[in-house]
Amino acid sequence: MNTIKNTGFRTIGGYQLSLLSRNDLKQLSEAADACEIERLRFTPSSQIAVSCTSEEQFSQFFQRIKPILKPLPTNGISTIFCCGGCNDCDHGLADTDHLASLLQTMDLPVPMPAKLKVAIAGCPRCCTMPRLRDVGLSPYSGKSRKWNLSFGGNGGIKPRIGDVIGTGLGLDEVLALIHKAVTLYQKEAKSGMRTATFVEHVSKDVFLEKLHQ
Ligand code: SF4
Repeated sequence: MNTIKNTGFRTIGGYQLSLLSRNDLKQLSEAADACEIERLRFTPSSQIAVSCTSEEQFSQFFQRIKPILKPLPTNGISTIFCCGGCNDCDHGLADTDHLASLLQTMDLPVPMPAKLKVAIAGCPRCCTMPRLRDVGLSPYSGKSRKWNLSFGGNGGIKPRIGDVIGTGLGLDEVLALIHKAVTLYQKEAKSGMRTATFVEHVSKDVFLEKLHQ
């Protein structure tokens, strides 16, 4: 387990939350009580950050809630931002959870040059901001169950809207194109270079040409 220090908070690294049942919430609350955790927050990437005063307190809390956490992907994807899609949102058009689980286990070359964040949105409202992530997915249309795919997006200090590299793709097609784009990035980007910088470095046209050749 890696830990990341925040101001007064520590994030439980390497794990994130999935959907929480009532029992999971109870377990979380009981663990916070037992370990005297004063404050807790959920990060934008569905991780848990807690205020704590000692390594022991942090470790005990982690052990207690470990059963309700799921490990982050180990294939080079650092985070998958995923809304509930058709499984738990009235606007949802697509099964985002299924796509997320396929990406979580996708066989990719590692190590990645830098963080690789993926976002999946269940409808065009795009609550997970896919165009601002390294890999972004949103439904192509309500009935087709197809996907739009963008690559090279970034938020933060130097925001960049990802380039649309595929539209109206079926599940197999979108997975194949993600694999191709990420593999190209992994092979050609310099260490520490995020996808947004990489696409600008090689130029969007050259990147697209290599991707579709
Ligand atoms: S993008 Fe937002 S509105 Fe659309 S399905 Fe996801 S959570 Fe619901």
